Amino acid sequence: MGTRGREIVGMDVDELILQLNKLYSDEWLAYYQYWVGAKVIKGPMKDAVAAELLQHATEELGHADLLANRIIQLGGTPVSTPEKWFELTNCGYDAPDDPHVQKLLEQNIQGEQCAISGYKTIMEKTRDADPVTYNLALQILSDEIEHEEDLQSLQEDIQLLLQRN
Ligand code: FE
Ligand code: FE
Ligand code: MG
Repeated sequence: MGTRGREIVGMDVDELILQLNKLYSDEWLAYYQYWVGAKVIKGPMKDAVAAELLQHATEELGHADLLANRIIQLGGTPVSTPEKWFELTNCGYDAPDDPHVQKLLEQNIQGEQCAISGYKTIMEKTRDADPVTYNLALQILSDEIEHEEDLQSLQEDIQLLLQRN
């Protein structure tokens, strides 16, 4: 923990750490949902979609890494057990029990939309109080917006493909 770095945060730091741990839990669950989804996927264009899901999995893990570093900088501890992810998550976990490509896309688009809302909210809370977290959230939000668009354009491609056949 950096003492001066923590002092300059103009809001309740423990509350901020909790919010960051909630986002951190979301990232781990998103990581696994994408990773296992890429394994089980079936249906039209599954290879292209699996490649995108796997890329997103890697990026969600990168987000977890960024959040963990910020939590530690603030003097907090990143969630230490997977059980706690389910207690803290904002966006939950949507198991890919139906592996059809369109179902997986739907589930993961919903996850991205939840993530976008989560980062937007933390940006509003930190805008004046903690520019470092604000910046971090902005960086992650940009990725989540890209993820949503990636998945929606795949969804569109599949719909076009199915209409032609
Ligand atoms: Fe993410
Ligand atoms: Fe994402
Ligand atoms: Mg992508």
